Amino acid sequence: MTAPRQSPFASEQRDGAPAVWEFAGLLLTYWCNARCALCCVYSSPRRGGRLDLPDALRVWRGLDELAAAHDRQMRIHLSGGEPFGDWPHLLSIVRAARDAGLSRLEKVETNAFWATSDALVRVRLEQLDALGMERLVVSSDVYHQRFVPFERVRRCVEVGRQVLGRGRVRVRWWDFYRRPLDPQALPPARRLRCYAAALRRHRERLTGRAADRLARLLPRHPAEHFRDQHCTAQILQSRHVHIGPYGHVFPGVCNGIILGNALRERIPVLWSRLATDWERNPVLAAVVRGGSYALLQRAREFGYRELERGYADRCHLCHHVRRFLHARGIWPECIGPAECYGSRRPRSEPAHELTAGSQRNN
Ligand code: SF4
Repeated sequence: MTAPRQSPFASEQRDGAPAVWEFAGLLLTYWCNARCALCCVYSSPRRGGRLDLPDALRVWRGLDELAAAHDRQMRIHLSGGEPFGDWPHLLSIVRAARDAGLSRLEKVETNAFWATSDALVRVRLEQLDALGMERLVVSSDVYHQRFVPFERVRRCVEVGRQVLGRGRVRVRWWDFYRRPLDPQALPPARRLRCYAAALRRHRERLTGRAADRLARLLPRHPAEHFRDQHCTAQILQSRHVHIGPYGHVFPGVCNGIILGNALRERIPVLWSRLATDWERNPVLAAVVRGGSYALLQRAREFGYRELERGYADRCHLCHHVRRFLHARGIWPECIGPAECYGSRRPRSEPAHELTAGSQRNN
């Protein structure tokens, strides 16, 4: 049994209005060519969803309005899933945002699966550069390279540096990029050891598929260990949010915890409502006051039982509890969508949320 850890946020203000959001990631789709073990949702080739152009612009504009109302500058990044899975769609959003005078695009994140030729990389990055993209972020790690040949990553990075300049291409993570290995060539036990070593170097947040696949590689602790590790900093004090393809607004590091829906409510209105109403959201109330341990205590009322072998960290506990609640349809306005919990989309979902995003023209 391990002693409970002291909360790293114990001295911070526990209640109050949320911070003004200044960093926002638009998750254009849950589709991805890969099924990485570290994915913080459950993206895969079988997932879909698409943030349509008018919706993306409306959300982007709303984020700009929120920031401007507080004399801040919004920084938008585009991600997924894999945003290059539908290149015309990605390009149309970036172009339309630029034409509409919206805030500059801070970065686009990609795993480079589409980088099949130098010419293709060059022409796409030149277009994004001309439309004002500041940076390109390329994933390169032992998890992604199970699904994306490393030569595509190298091509994307090298041609990207020629087009954008060295400082405008980032790699996540450089240590792997400089000493890549092919995880497909490794026997499963060795691959798991490589995953564990990568986790020690770069601690990933254990939500989504990462909770299922990577937590087993780390030491476990009983749920009690995470008592009082409240999440005020991640929920109320964070300036970072993600908006998914169905409009769900998530705290920047807690995909699957719904703050509101940006397709139903303008962002400034949503933010203002959250400032006064967040305690009425049972998930937010629990994790802000008492972290994932408090959420577990609420979930016990619905029959949740702790894992005997314990949890790797508080987010692993949080995800496991939320997945239980989501599977039982408990607090659906606060926990979802299915893509964040590895489950099928319920039939009751509105049809417009089922846009397949099936055009993968690469
Ligand atoms: S424990 Fe839950 S609410 Fe807290 S930071 Fe982790 S995922 Fe977010």
